[in-house]
Amino acid sequence: MSCEEVREIIQLYLDSELDSRSTLSVVRHLERCSGCSRLLVGDLRQDAALKEAARSEAVDSYRLRREIARAIRRQPARSRYRFLLLQVRR
Ligand SMILES: [Zn+2]
Repeated sequence: MSCEEVREIIQLYLDSELDSRSTLSVVRHLERCSGCSRLLVGDLRQDAALKEAARSEAVDSYRLRREIARAIRRQPARSRYRFLLLQVRR
C-alpha cells in the first residue's frame, strides 16, 4: 500500500471502519513508514481535541439547564405553578 492510499483511508482506519485486510495493510504500512505514522499521531491528537471540545459543550448545556432551573425558582410561586402546568400539558 502506498503512502497516498494510506492517507486516503486513514480516517476510516481511525473510525475502525476498514475491513480486517485493509486494517492490516495500513498497520503494516505504518510500521514501516514514519511519515504516515506521524500523520496518524497528528490525527489522533486532533481527534482527542475534538472530543475535548464536545465534552466542554456538554458541560455548557448542563450549566444552561441549571441556569434555567434557577431562573424558574426565582419566579414568584404563582407563575412557577403555571409553568409546571404547561410542562404537564405538553
Ligand atoms: Zn507512508
